[in-house]
Amino acid sequence: MNDLPALLGGTPVRSTPFPVYRTIGAEEKQAVMEVLDSGVLSQFLGAWSPDFFGGPRVRELEADWCQHFSVAHAVSVNSATSGLYAAVGAAGVGPGDEVIVSPYTMSASAAAALVYGAVPVFADIDPETYCLTAETIRAKLSARTKAVIVVDIFGHPADFAPIMELAHEHGLTVIEDCAQAPGALYHGKAAGTLAHMGVYSLNYHKTIHCGEGGLVVTDDPALAKRLQLIRNHGEAVVKNMGYQGELTNLVGFNYRMTEIEAAIAREQLKKLPQLVARRQENAAYLNRGLQGLRGLSLPQVAPGCTHGWYVYPLKYSAAVTGVARATYLAALRAEGVEIAAGYVEPLYLQPLYQQKIAYGNEHFPFSLRPEVSYARGLCPVTERMHFDELLYSPLIHADLGQAELDQVIAAFHKIDRHLDALRSVAA
Ligand SMILES: *Cc1c(COP(=O)(O)O)cnc(C)c1O
Repeated sequence: MNDLPALLGGTPVRSTPFPVYRTIGAEEKQAVMEVLDSGVLSQFLGAWSPDFFGGPRVRELEADWCQHFSVAHAVSVNSATSGLYAAVGAAGVGPGDEVIVSPYTMSASAAAALVYGAVPVFADIDPETYCLTAETIRAKLSARTKAVIVVDIFGHPADFAPIMELAHEHGLTVIEDCAQAPGALYHGKAAGTLAHMGVYSLNYHKTIHCGEGGLVVTDDPALAKRLQLIRNHGEAVVKNMGYQGELTNLVGFNYRMTEIEAAIAREQLKKLPQLVARRQENAAYLNRGLQGLRGLSLPQVAPGCTHGWYVYPLKYSAAVTGVARATYLAALRAEGVEIAAGYVEPLYLQPLYQQKIAYGNEHFPFSLRPEVSYARGLCPVTERMHFDELLYSPLIHADLGQAELDQVIAAFHKIDRHLDALRSVAA
């Protein structure tokens, strides 16, 4: 057998795509048929009535979610993006406020601040968990800081105890973006329930899904009410509802989930523990198989945490191997292994932030906080991870077995045996 890396003309470890992750089965199909048979595909009404809170499947999903994650209130929405927007609105964030957020996340985590005229302030990440920490948040506090959006990125819960302490000290609202971490635990408590509000995603690409959807959870009844109003045309409802609370940010949207999505999501939630357990087994298997390879650092799970393993992140050191990350990556890809260098570009490098153009062309809302910087170099750890060190693989999901993981491991080992030859390949 030819042991040469496929990049150098050898035979690839795998020549067909890996199995796709598929969670939808007979249970979801049955649940959808029942909704179709009922004829009621959404029961929401954007006026004050019992149907202001949605139909039976929507309410059952919310009750299931509360029970599963041990939280008092769950408000379903049509995406986690909508959920983040609603959460920032519910927190009372307004024009000129500052919202501290990670730059290493999906764009909506930061855009949520802009929707209410607030300015995202990017804080750096921890080099092991890739999440914000109390220290990096503290370094970005100002008199205008109103809220913090903490992302459990890649499935690892952020270290929330010190973050919530800091928030309490400074009167900040903390929103947990748990889109990537359902089923992970932090000292026994469910990820998503660790802050004032938590947001889950049910987008097709996530651990469980219903096509598009999301939930916002909270233990605070006043926040729950504001979330429900923002979800469903609040301005048209407050009067007849007899709402006595704050009117700020209650111009409502239509963020409503349909009965079909809710029916699917209920079935998906039942599968979540098993799907996450399989990811955790796969991560343990990869961690064993990839030990000791030159230039690779395996993912760390912080004490007291479990990881949801949305993806499997690795750190790579070209200084150790002498092989550029791009070449190492090209070699893995040539072996048939799906892997990427870095995740999303640090958000502040997007044109929106570089040019400070969001609404209109007079730099609103950035003009309200001109001192907030988006210069390259702003978050050095994030930039180092993204541009130099991080390798990011989706090959961790529950539809992969040992045979496939053995191929992933074999590809890494093969490349490790041939680092000398790869050193001469231009990146
Ligand atoms: C996917 C994702 C979102 C957005 O979820 P949608 O349901 O697609 O709107 C937000 N934050 C993070 C971290 C995500 O991964």
